Amino acid sequence: MDVIKEVKKIENQIINWRRELHQIPEYDFDLYETSEYVQKKLTEFGVDYRIAAKTGIIATIFGEDGGPTIGIRADMDALPIKEETNLPFKSKKEGYMHACGHDAHTAMLLGVAKILSENKTKLTGNVRLIFQPAEETTGGAKPMIEEGCLRNPDVDYVIGGHIGSLFNGITDGQIGFKYGPMMASVDSFSIVVKGKGGHGALPHLCIDPIVISSEIITSIQKIVSREINPTHPAVITIGMIEGGTYVNIVPEEVTFSGTVRTLYEEDRNLVEKRIKEIANEVAVANRARVEIEYNKYYPSVINDEKVTKEFVKAAKKVVDLENIVEIREPTMTTDDMAYYLNEVPGTYFMLGSLKEADDGIIYPHHNPRFDINEDVLWIGTAVFVQFAKQYLMD
Ligand SMILES: [Zn+2]
Ligand SMILES: [Zn+2]
Repeated sequence: MDVIKEVKKIENQIINWRRELHQIPEYDFDLYETSEYVQKKLTEFGVDYRIAAKTGIIATIFGEDGGPTIGIRADMDALPIKEETNLPFKSKKEGYMHACGHDAHTAMLLGVAKILSENKTKLTGNVRLIFQPAEETTGGAKPMIEEGCLRNPDVDYVIGGHIGSLFNGITDGQIGFKYGPMMASVDSFSIVVKGKGGHGALPHLCIDPIVISSEIITSIQKIVSREINPTHPAVITIGMIEGGTYVNIVPEEVTFSGTVRTLYEEDRNLVEKRIKEIANEVAVANRARVEIEYNKYYPSVINDEKVTKEFVKAAKKVVDLENIVEIREPTMTTDDMAYYLNEVPGTYFMLGSLKEADDGIIYPHHNPRFDINEDVLWIGTAVFVQFAKQYLMD
């Protein structure tokens, strides 16, 4: 199978699917029209599927027995943004927009579904196509996994990609790959410091939660600078603090909340443990009490060495060498692709796409004027197909 030839044959279809999907952006887990659109195409291609995570789709292309199963993931959700492009295929859903390029991800994966299902008699092993909701919100990947998207047949390797301009240095039409940690984990916490309110002129009769909160916040900032290996990136940002009503009143309580980003699981666990310890013990030392809420969200995106090597081999068959770029620095942003990579060895890559709006400006992801360059869509499909081919046909 000549992968590039096969993909080029359906390039216009992939672009059209993207445009049709672009017009029906939906949010979170409620991707009813999008899911129906994908299901209709899969039925047309003769691909088996079932529904999971409300509107997600677990599809399988069964080849001959004896080979591995390759999982390929696309996120399908859009954002609550009012689209301000002048595209002829702009959003028909008021207040919602595909402003991250997940319409392109869905279309590229449909291209994979079409090509690989047409060639399934040549496959030794299977292909699992994962169309998931809620990447932008609470992580559709998690319920997709809980509902079996990596099982039956069991997925041996998983791959996903993101289009756009998320990483500096990956320009239009280029493929960015990275070994090891690529994107951060994200957790958040909220702490209520409970003191004893009273007159600001009589502090000895009060327990001042403002002073105690200041001490906790300052001490928390020492976790990154004094307790984490300085070669490991980590961020703790306290973005909210609330307490007090007037200059001469010591308030009853103060609340503050923050976000935690790390690349390594050991750091993630350390930060959680230490925030809780510091908050508790500083409060006790000052006669106060704390209530701590700590929520863990996406783990970090960590690419498997061997699978990434195999991916680079696939990329070389699709684009010229100078358009394959190794990403040197991870970012502290997140992606729920991490959940799959936590379960199964795999890799996440970037497909560079820089599209100027009609005013000549390239707008970033999540901007009401964000757009993608449709001329690179075939590259995404081709890389996925080539990757699967290497495991299942060569
Ligand atoms: Zn996004
Ligand atoms: Zn995205």
